[in-house]
Amino acid sequence: MKVAVLSGGVGGARFVRALAETLEPGDITVIGNVGDDLEVLGLHVSPDLDSILYALAGLNDEERGWGRAAETWSALEEARRYGGEDWFKLGDRDIGLHLVRTQALRAGEPLSGVTARLADAVGLGVRLLPATDDRLRTWLETPAGTFSFQDWFVARGHRDEVDELRFEGAEDARPAPGVAEALAGADLILLAPSNPYVSITPILAVAGIRDALERRTVPCVAVSPLIGGAAVKGPADRMLARLAGGTTPAHVASCYEGLIDVLVIDEADAPVDLEVETVVTKTLMTDVAARRRLAEAALR
Ligand code: GDP
Ligand code: CA
Repeated sequence: MKVAVLSGGVGGARFVRALAETLEPGDITVIGNVGDDLEVLGLHVSPDLDSILYALAGLNDEERGWGRAAETWSALEEARRYGGEDWFKLGDRDIGLHLVRTQALRAGEPLSGVTARLADAVGLGVRLLPATDDRLRTWLETPAGTFSFQDWFVARGHRDEVDELRFEGAEDARPAPGVAEALAGADLILLAPSNPYVSITPILAVAGIRDALERRTVPCVAVSPLIGGAAVKGPADRMLARLAGGTTPAHVASCYEGLIDVLVIDEADAPVDLEVETVVTKTLMTDVAARRRLAEAALR
């Protein structure tokens, strides 16, 4: 069974890892969000692609919950000493990856090309694609002003309520090479339990990807990122409350209207009566067994 999965960073990566532990990794294509990408200290950082790469390669820091395991911070401390920006936490090992990516992009290689090389270098069995090679950036309108994604999320600790989202560059963005083919060739399309607004919607903002989902001939299954109406981590619940009017499975499903056939929800959010089919299971991915149970529920 071939699957294509749309994914954000850490939450999505956990689910992708669950899929890779359940299916043949070679049958999985991950289409990752690039709306969070940024340039910091001259480096091009793709946080969501990197979270997926690190998690699948077993290089992620489980305790911190993000970034590279066995990380050290000397380069950033030195940057700070010289007055460089240090608000975005880049570890020494992480910087190694960003150096390779940045050099490649400056030499004219597309993001999908260098992502494939990085994935090969760590022996990733899963195919990892950015949603687009074109520049696409998430902007948020808040009562305190307009912020780029990382300004809002990291620098301001996502404390501002979000009134509106904008995906700069999305109108002209084309799906990266392989994305349309993966969606057309999949037996099943999955939306990871990522933040619907800032992780999945920026992927769907690429018209070619949204069209492919609208015209799908195979089922599309989304996994809810909420458990008992609350996010496991991050601002998804607050965003849903403000932008969709609540945090029930119906509100999650409303983010994907016309795009999904099934919503996988946690036991804590059942029972519900939705227009789409629901699958009820435990959705907290605490260990291999829990991850596998969720992957199997979504694949059923
Ligand atoms: P980010 O890009 O690193 O912020 O990560 P994502 O957008 O991919 O994932 C963030 C979402 O993952 C949050 O809304 C969490 O509620 C959700 N999440 C994290 N771990 C779990 C889990 O074990 N189960 C479920 N159902 N959701 C999770
Ligand atoms: Ca993200």
